[in-house]
Parts: sequence; structure tokens; C-alpha cells
Amino acid sequence: MGIVVQKYGGSSLADADAIKRVARRIVDVKKSGHDVVVAVSAMGDTTDDLYDLANGVSPLPPAREMDMLLTAGERISMALVAMAISDLGFTARSFTGSQAGVITDSVHGKAKIIDVTPGRITEAIGNGHIVIVAGFQGVSQDTKEITTLGRGGTDTTAVALAAALEADACEIYTDVDGVFTADPRIVPSARKLDQVSYEEMLELAACGSKILHLRCVEYGRRYGIPIHVRSSFSQLEGTWVVNDPRPGTEVQPMEQPIIAGVAHDVSEAKITVVGVPDKVGEAARIFEALADAQINLDMIVQNVSAAATSLTDISFTLPRTDGQTAMTALARIQAEVGYDKLLYDDKIGKVSLIGAGMRSHPGITSKFFGALASAGVNIGMISTSEIRISVIVDENVVGDAVRATHTAFDLDADEVEAVVYGGTGR
Ligand code: ASP
Ligand code: MG
Repeated sequence: MGIVVQKYGGSSLADADAIKRVARRIVDVKKSGHDVVVAVSAMGDTTDDLYDLANGVSPLPPAREMDMLLTAGERISMALVAMAISDLGFTARSFTGSQAGVITDSVHGKAKIIDVTPGRITEAIGNGHIVIVAGFQGVSQDTKEITTLGRGGTDTTAVALAAALEADACEIYTDVDGVFTADPRIVPSARKLDQVSYEEMLELAACGSKILHLRCVEYGRRYGIPIHVRSSFSQLEGTWVVNDPRPGTEVQPMEQPIIAGVAHDVSEAKITVVGVPDKVGEAARIFEALADAQINLDMIVQNVSAAATSLTDISFTLPRTDGQTAMTALARIQAEVGYDKLLYDDKIGKVSLIGAGMRSHPGITSKFFGALASAGVNIGMISTSEIRISVIVDENVVGDAVRATHTAFDLDADEVEAVVYGGTGR
């Protein structure tokens, strides 16, 4: 009997009753003869509440102290889950990320796991204990400081533990039944996917689907760990995130669904640099200034320059949270670049159509744009990858755009399948 690695999210651990229910699920796995290692998130909205507390004390809390504060959330749940398990007559040992051997780089707030040395975990398992690990945190190899992995990082903790412990798979327990063809909060007729490839899941996560942390999918793909996303509120089989095609099944490419789903994201803003002289080196200067300010860009579009003026416009999207920093960085180089002015728009949304079948099926783009047109949605910007088409639209028509696209690609379920069991959506 192998090791089972599980992750429980905050909405599955919202209060004492929820914690007792999770403890019973964990004990059931142990009773069936498996060793169990569990990564836990902070209870309910604890992490958001801790953010609010910090902001009440200081408008710009130091990143090191922020990590000290936020990691406390997961410590609370790990101890409570261990207590609830001991109440059921089994022994559990809880460990912080640092104790569990989760080694990261030293970037506070978005650290990357560089190694997992699970000596204390394997020792505890050897002594017959169930192991509970605080998610979303580690310790920096260089600075020895406590770090966090970014919002939603407990998924990544769980998959990293599964890889280090050579588990066959990693179970991610959440408050919906799996990965859906769209966010069920926007598209009630969204359908649950039985299976999705790492590649498609990476695009979904990068385009705003919050069901899995992006880096957990990268980690799973790199180490070949199948990820089973499922609800802690039901016993239903969820969605398997696996290699394409799933090992052991002989799915022919033609039989695979063409489209995996429609994702949306309303966390981005758009900046347009108007009247950029059309000569060598201007774009480099603009994007250098943004890179120096540590800003991650998403879409970039440069217009053809107007023949009469030899001036062009460059637009790009970026996280709204970086908007102010980017505008300041660009204002600083206005004289040097000689552009005319800057425009800032944060009333935008991104809608993305994702599916590995796009590679072999022509006509997907025209169908997508046709659906948007029929819904009266105007397209602001377009970008594509091999298996994705994304458009920028007005923020207030994102829902219409997602629903129209979902229907155009026959993704609607006949009956409502999506149940949102918990969470405040915060
Ligand atoms: N508690 C952290 C958050 O809310 C980490 C996680 O839930 O995975 O982002
Ligand atoms: Mg959380």
C-alpha cells in the first residue's frame, strides 16, 4: 500500500465541524491501509483576513513580516486537523513547511520550491503517524527566512510532497467537483471534465482559472504526478490532470474533445503608449523600463505606424496591481523615448478559449469571433498560442462573452452539473 498525498483547501476547513469532517476522510484512507500525508490551507478566509490586518497596521508591510504573518494561517489548520485526528484514535504529527523540508528560493510572497527534503515526514510515517503539513510555505535555502509560495500555493506544496515521496498521484480537495469547462459561477451549465492534459491545465490556470495553482501544474508535469482535483464535500470522482493521452488509455487525437474550456480573467489592466517614433530600439527601451520595474507583461500589440507621421502605438496588458508602478516607470522615460502620452484602462477582461485539439482543427478562431460578434462583444486585443486564443474585451461584457463562447463550442451540459459546495468566493 503506497503513500496517499492529499490537499485540503480553506473552504474545506472553514470551521470546527469542517475540520472534523476532513479528519474523518483522512482517517478512512489510513484505515484502508495507506500511509497519508496531507497539505492544508488556512481556514476559510483567514489569509485574506490576515492581509486586511496587516494593511490596517501599515500601508506597505515589509515582505518578510508579511510571510511570517501569513504562514500562521496554515499553522492553525495543521494543528487543528492533527487534534481532530487524534480524537478519532489515530496519531498525527503536524509540521510547518520548514520542518517538512520544503526548501525555496528567497523571494518573499512568491517563492519557488527548489527542493523537498522530507526526512521528518518519512520518519513520522515510519512511526505510524498521519502527517499534516502546513501548505503554501517553506524556508529559503540562502537566507533561512520563512517564505510563502503565492496565493493558492498549498496546491504546489501538495504536488511537491507527492513528487518527493514518490506517491502515485496527488489528490487536491476543493469546494467544487473538479475542473469545469468554464467558471460555474458565470456559466451554470458548465460541464465537469473527466480528464485534462497538463498542457491545457497550464493555459487554463494562466488565463484566470483559479482551481489549481499554476506552479502546481508545472510541478506535476515535470515530475509526472497525476493530479486528481475533486470535492471534499462529495465522494464523486473529480478531474484528472495527466499527460496527453492519459497513460494506459489509447485515446486517438481525433476522439479527444477539441476544446477543454473557456477561461476568464478580470485582474489585468491595459496600458497604451501613444505616438512612439517608429525607429529601431524604441520598443526595447520601453520594455526594458518595465522589466527593470519587475513587471510581468501578458499581451503586447504594436500597431502599423501611420505613413504620414511615422508614429505608432504600443499596447500591452499587465496585472492591475502593477499598474501604478508601470505608469511611473514609463513616465520617467517619456523624454528619452519621445512618445506622446500614456493611456491606462483597467476596465478590461480577458476571455480565453483553450484546447489541444485546436492544433488539428481549422476554423476555431472564426467560430470564436463569430460567437463574440453575435453576443455584441467588441474585441480589443488578440493573442494566441498553439492551443489557446485570448481576447481582451470590456470588463462588463466578460460574462456574456464567456457564455456565448461556451455555447458556440457545444460545451453546455444538458443538466446543471456544477455544485459550488463552499467558499465565500473571496
Ligand atoms: N492560504 C493561502 C491562500 O489563501 C494558500 C492557499 O490557500 O493555498 O492563498
Ligand atoms: Mg486559501
